[in-house]
Amino acid sequence: MTNNCLDISRRGQEKQFIHQQKKGDIVTYSSNIKLPNAAEYIIASLEKRGFEAYAVGGCVRDSVMGKKPKDWDICTEALPEQTMQCFAGQRIIETGLKHGTVSLLLNNEAYEVTTFRADGIYKDNRRPETVEFIKDIKGDLARRDFTINALAYNPEKGIQDPFGGMADIKGKTIRCVGDAEKRFGEDALRIMRALRFASVLEFEIEAATAAAVKKKCGLLRCIAAERVSAELGALLIGGGVGSVLLSYSSVIEAIIPEISETIGFVQKSKYHDLDVWEHTVRSVTYATEDILLRLAMLLHDIAKPLCFTEVDGIGHFRGHPQKSAEMAKGILSRLKYDKETIGAVVELILHHGKDVEPAHKPVKRWLNLLGEVRLRQLLEIKRADTMAKAAPFRQGQIEQIDAALSVLNEVIRQRQCFSIKGLEVSGRDLIAIGIPQGPDIGKVLGRLLEMVIDEEIENDRTKLLKKVKFDLRLDADCDTIHPIIKNGRGTKV
Ligand code: ATP
Ligand code: MG
Repeated sequence: MTNNCLDISRRGQEKQFIHQQKKGDIVTYSSNIKLPNAAEYIIASLEKRGFEAYAVGGCVRDSVMGKKPKDWDICTEALPEQTMQCFAGQRIIETGLKHGTVSLLLNNEAYEVTTFRADGIYKDNRRPETVEFIKDIKGDLARRDFTINALAYNPEKGIQDPFGGMADIKGKTIRCVGDAEKRFGEDALRIMRALRFASVLEFEIEAATAAAVKKKCGLLRCIAAERVSAELGALLIGGGVGSVLLSYSSVIEAIIPEISETIGFVQKSKYHDLDVWEHTVRSVTYATEDILLRLAMLLHDIAKPLCFTEVDGIGHFRGHPQKSAEMAKGILSRLKYDKETIGAVVELILHHGKDVEPAHKPVKRWLNLLGEVRLRQLLEIKRADTMAKAAPFRQGQIEQIDAALSVLNEVIRQRQCFSIKGLEVSGRDLIAIGIPQGPDIGKVLGRLLEMVIDEEIENDRTKLLKKVKFDLRLDADCDTIHPIIKNGRGTKV
């Protein structure tokens, strides 16, 4: 494809780019690329020394799309040593000299400056064995994954777009630069990147690229789990996640084979008009764009096929939350998610099927068990789960969830006590009135909390201490402190 982009503006002004397509039709892009001062300075400094330099990749793509780029990468014909000479006196990090990258720290931000390069033979379906520094921007853009990422921009020269990236942005298309199968064979992580960009940008993957994604997805097994899960996480919080998961379920199966059983698994339940996988995907789309919630939805019913029983033609999935939580733990550990993420997702899945009764006492018990943040998350995933069920069964459950949320807000607003930390007496107070240090302290505090949650006693310091001293009646597992309370002297009898 041959495309010409003509910068018809002057530097510093809003830039309009005329994009001439092969067919002869002219498409005008309104492109408003405003380089940050530091990026402009880097490019100008390199050019002053006679080296071509451009902003490149995601920052150009995002700018063209009117989004704020995450970071600004620069590419240049200068060799890494020449770049370092050019910026001698600045803070420089030798990020990856072998691959041509140095990072400059300007205004407390890092800017990667990478020499134009062509990649050699790839090993391990991930990284090139060698890289060759080259003099030409087009060669550098040719090694990039997708046309929309193979864009470079220089304030004087405008946008460089040898592979039709601007047209693909306009057409909302993810298309490999060059032969898709070959590109995925070189680096299989690009398969996940294709899905991630499709989801985040809400673009379609072009037919040949899509076919290669499906054909080559088995290669993902060669890719480091951390890299795959980073892309999976970004994909899951993208706006186009639903259609990506449904259209490319075979790719998800390649990284999470456990989902295979859920695909097409008919639930035989009046609550569900979708199979387990379709319900799962729909629930993902209904969850807030938060990695924990979306991972929880992705895996919340994964054990359903294993737990399925049928009685009189009706499907049951007894114990599936526990089993799904167990499987999720295994899957997320294998994908090398961090402990905190795994713990949160597993906890949410474990409780996703339980009712949160919209009344003060039960909500306070839930708060005690999960804490405020996790309980809010639980209500969110319950809402997403419900919204993915058959329409006639949604309203009642959603009303209950809303009511539970109102109670939760009220409990928090009124600063009601739901944890030992929130009690107006502490372990130290109990020791002061004579309860010996040790497990009894925790038991008494636990009992007081129960009474406060059940609204049998106010969370008031004087009243609580009086209760402990004079009339706390002890149940079986508190019996060691019975005598202390009884004689009120604080000595163990
Ligand atoms: P993001 O907004 O997520 O940062 P990005 O496009 O900037 O998206 P990066 O991972 O930061 O993605 O990579 C910067 C650029 O490097 C890409 O735009 C692309 O040109 C190139 N690139 C990154 N990873 C690959 C890859 N695996 N294969 C080929 N080119 C890649
Ligand atoms: Mg980037």
